[in-house]
Amino acid sequence: MADRSLRGIRLGAQSLQSEEGVVFMERTQYTYACTVCGRDTTLAFAADAEAPEMWECRTCGAEAVLRIGEGTAVIDHSEDKIPRTHWDMLLERRTRAELEELLEERLAFIRARRGAGEDVTAEKIGA
Ligand SMILES: [Zn+2]
Repeated sequence: MADRSLRGIRLGAQSLQSEEGVVFMERTQYTYACTVCGRDTTLAFAADAEAPEMWECRTCGAEAVLRIGEGTAVIDHSEDKIPRTHWDMLLERRTRAELEELLEERLAFIRARRGAGEDVTAEKIGA
């Protein structure tokens, strides 16, 4: 009888499923050395998968590079987009000489205004 065969087994406590016929994927461990904190991050990938040359450091989140033998993989950053700063964009529009000129103009304007402001104050005091 069905309910008789289950007697004595705490259901849920153990799996009745056997591991017979289960083939575990062969895995290879790869270690990544962090370029910032120097700690290692070890990961397991399927043996037939190609491990990426870079991974995120588990400790600090920075770039970790795949260890190969004694060294590490060489990462080619030449394809990376380097974000342009406001300064870079400004230099694309104007030469340094032009910027110097603009700065001088602006400084002269500020000095003139400040000078005028002092005059107003002097007039007030004088009155
Ligand atoms: Zn790190």
